[in-house]
Amino acid sequence: MHYFRTHTEINLGAIRRNAEAIKAYSGKQLIAVVKADAYGHGMLRVTETLHPIADMFAVATVEEGVTLRQGGIHKPILILFSSLPEEAAQIVEHGLTPTVADWEFASQLNAITTKPVNIHVNINTGMNRSGVRWTEAVSFLNRLKTLERLEIEGAFTHLATADEADKSFVSVQLERFLSLFTGKNIKILHAANSAASLAVSASQFDAVRPGLSLYGVYPASEKPIVLEPALTWKTRIGWMGVISEGEGVSYGLTYKASRQTRVAMVQIGYGDGYRRALSGVGQVLISGVRCPIIGRVCMDVSVVDLRDAANVSVGDEVVLIGKQAEEEITVDEIADRAGTISYEILTQIGPRVKRTFC
Ligand SMILES: *Cc1c(COP(=O)(O)O)cnc(C)c1O
Repeated sequence: MHYFRTHTEINLGAIRRNAEAIKAYSGKQLIAVVKADAYGHGMLRVTETLHPIADMFAVATVEEGVTLRQGGIHKPILILFSSLPEEAAQIVEHGLTPTVADWEFASQLNAITTKPVNIHVNINTGMNRSGVRWTEAVSFLNRLKTLERLEIEGAFTHLATADEADKSFVSVQLERFLSLFTGKNIKILHAANSAASLAVSASQFDAVRPGLSLYGVYPASEKPIVLEPALTWKTRIGWMGVISEGEGVSYGLTYKASRQTRVAMVQIGYGDGYRRALSGVGQVLISGVRCPIIGRVCMDVSVVDLRDAANVSVGDEVVLIGKQAEEEITVDEIADRAGTISYEILTQIGPRVKRTFC
């Protein structure tokens, strides 16, 4: 295999099995969310892998949708957020499915297209970041019906608290949403992100719309099905040394050795998306042993205490996320230590990290 300073290994089989498990668990259509480069897993390869399983794909931006079309993806592609009138032409040209929540965009889309365009209407039921306010939705939907080339294929909402233990506001949002559509003939109603797909069966309507869980990471404590993490992140040892009691390490010398210490530089830094917040709190796996990051994470490298890692040499594999021998570092562990969420860790793995697939 080619030598990489740092790389991720994406297990496409795990992503396929996760998608199959989620789809089977809900028993509904699957709208696979592959935005932000499939949460750092590689949008085109993931989408190709899920093509036989997903009923529809979802991305955040028109550019992402165009990239998928240019990569040969022919299933429906939903743009999860509203587009600008200036983007209407690209949407039509590439046969993307836009989210509609404002009149200006909708009328522009209707004006420039010659063939019918499927749209999904986003209803704001309380998340308050996008969509038509639920109290205004009936009149908006009626007005949309006057645009003869737009087909309202779907309607959806997004839940603000599905990953929290207290599901009471989820119920409020679902009631607001459902009250608009009882007796209405809309083909695909959907609301469930990963958390709701796993924990709120009442939110599953005609389709579920998971992202994170496809990649084998649980959004919350509910784990009704087994998901396999799909991403392993590795780097290498670049230098080793021994420091004496009282000596410091890395910028600011924030770490002081309490005894003679074997240290190693590992080739990963915040320039690769390995967060600086892991300074002094992160851990990596070397020779199957957990080794703590000591001192500050730099742009390109970090330093670890080798502790009782035996038979270590420069060039050896270092696991940042994933398994090595009997040990495992999960995305959730890294996120906790860095004071953030798994989503942010995954999507910030940088362009300097080569992605490989297995
Ligand atoms: C990102 C996103 C999702 C997927 O959320 P996960 O928590 O990753 O499952 C679903 N719907 C919308 C509107 C989103 O923006």
